Amino acid sequence: MMGKTQEIMCGIVGYVGKRQAKGILVEGLKRLEYRGYDSAGLAILQNGALKLEKQTGRVANLEGELDKRAFNGNIGISHTRWATHGKVSQSNAHPHVSSDGKIALVHNGVIENFTSIKKFLLSKGYSFESETDTEVLCNLVAYHYAKQPEVDGQSRFAESVRRTLFHVEGTYGIAVLSTDCPDEMVCARKGSPLIIGVGVGENIVASDATAFASRTQNVVYLNDGEVAHVTSDDFNILTISNESVDPIVSQLDWSGEEADLGDFAYFMEKEIFEQPSALENAMRGRFSEDDSTTKFGGLNVSPQEFRQMDRLLFCACGTAWHACLVAEYLIEKYARIPVEVEYASEFRYRNAPLDKNTVVFVISQSGETLDTLAALREAQRKGYRALAINNVVGSTIARESDGGIYQHAGPEIGVASTKAFTSQLLISAMLALYLGRLNDMSYGDGRRFVEALKAVPELVALNLKVNSQVEAIAKAYAQYDDFLFLGRQEMFPIALEGALKLKEISYIHAEGYPAAEMKHGPIALISELCPSVFIIAKGEVFQKTIANMQEIKARHGKIICIAPEGAEFPDGLIDDLILYPDCHEAVAPLLACIPLQLLSYYIARERGCDVDKPRNLAKSVTVE
Ligand code: GLU
Repeated sequence: MMGKTQEIMCGIVGYVGKRQAKGILVEGLKRLEYRGYDSAGLAILQNGALKLEKQTGRVANLEGELDKRAFNGNIGISHTRWATHGKVSQSNAHPHVSSDGKIALVHNGVIENFTSIKKFLLSKGYSFESETDTEVLCNLVAYHYAKQPEVDGQSRFAESVRRTLFHVEGTYGIAVLSTDCPDEMVCARKGSPLIIGVGVGENIVASDATAFASRTQNVVYLNDGEVAHVTSDDFNILTISNESVDPIVSQLDWSGEEADLGDFAYFMEKEIFEQPSALENAMRGRFSEDDSTTKFGGLNVSPQEFRQMDRLLFCACGTAWHACLVAEYLIEKYARIPVEVEYASEFRYRNAPLDKNTVVFVISQSGETLDTLAALREAQRKGYRALAINNVVGSTIARESDGGIYQHAGPEIGVASTKAFTSQLLISAMLALYLGRLNDMSYGDGRRFVEALKAVPELVALNLKVNSQVEAIAKAYAQYDDFLFLGRQEMFPIALEGALKLKEISYIHAEGYPAAEMKHGPIALISELCPSVFIIAKGEVFQKTIANMQEIKARHGKIICIAPEGAEFPDGLIDDLILYPDCHEAVAPLLACIPLQLLSYYIARERGCDVDKPRNLAKSVTVE
């Protein structure tokens, strides 16, 4: 059974205004394509009649078909699918249309009770053409619409959507059109994001503001359980239980151009090279007057309260979980506060006993990762203070958390996280400094830490100069099918992240391990066919890690080593050495990460993979 808060990412865009809807919808879909890309579709109301086109594959296929005939109309809805129910096919692609031909609908999410609704609708004479859970929604809207009397001052269409949702279990973001109401669009959300971009004489709804950021900066984030009735000049919002909602219009903190590819081949490449400015933005205004510590405006936890805390719990999924592991090392090392790390997807069902004085942090780039949201809610349900580290301003996690830290990294479109991950690492280091200075870290150590943080953007820019060296290394290694990534202490999570990056975008089997654990099992994999990537820091375990390398070399394993400038190694031990700038230990994981991002990027390109849209993945998917 699907969890109540499961989210499937896909892209929805809807437009109502005075302009031709088609171009705006297609442009929006292209910007959202990273959220799901197995099929795409679009419906427009042209003189009150529905015009529909759907295609399997990428948005470009849909666009090709759309160009073949006229699609004129000022109102429409569109979708890129990430299939959950039913194979990837034209008939399963969205929009779906009710069997009476009146209602068209796009949906992001999973309708859990679709079987019983379908049975009911079949008994009422409605028929189905797809295998999706979604199709029941548009037939159910049609059913309620047919039953719904006209009431003065109320949209019969919006009312029938509201009534429909009363009977629906599961998660959804939806946008709906009706042939009877050619000036109205209705949308709703529960568990899947939906945002209204408020324009002048036009409104655009989308799963993600990236779809419309070049057109308007004014946004209204729908909350779970809300239904919006949208026309070109107005919109109003009701809850499913029929209470009216006062919408809050907020401003996006980034512009449309930031979500453009520019001269780069892929968003991942662009985002790797944007890191110096993304990291600068994560720090801006966050050092205190005398510069011996950091400060965060929105934590909503006083220093006194932090001092009462015995423990921190960090929860996240995927790459952000690796950031949590780095946070654990840094906070325990510099602030001496015990930290636990949990997978958000496990925490939500584990009923974990937590210490009384625990603060919970969740980390999520999108702020929409629903396992992470569920972990946040679980912590809050138990009465814990739950804070968020998150990139997307106004996201669900940002809104529901008790406080937190925005990453300000700008939109991240590439499915494989790069700049968002390093900004999470930077914020973890800043948090370690803040908490360290609340405890025993001296003024002088605090100052050195601050200087180290301030140097990061410049060091990353320097670090990115290894790109042509890494590209050449990637060419030499791209044919291998197995890799080990090995690191110790705070470099262990970086090894996990390096392996994950390679798996995600190159489909190469890769495992991350603590370097010394390798001899307890993974060493059996070592041969000339399985290279190892060592990620090394200066410090206590440097020599120990060299011993681990010798163990690999003795078994004919090739070694790529990512190490700080100035590190010295025995002759002939390392096949390919990539250096990162010498730096403070707290920021070494971040700097070591840059060559790994480049390595996976260039290997993926060498293997001809679609870097930004790896198979089976979509950004921030959480599926049980
Ligand atoms: N469950 C729906 C389907 O499989 C929607 C999937 C999505 O969010 O793209 O078609």
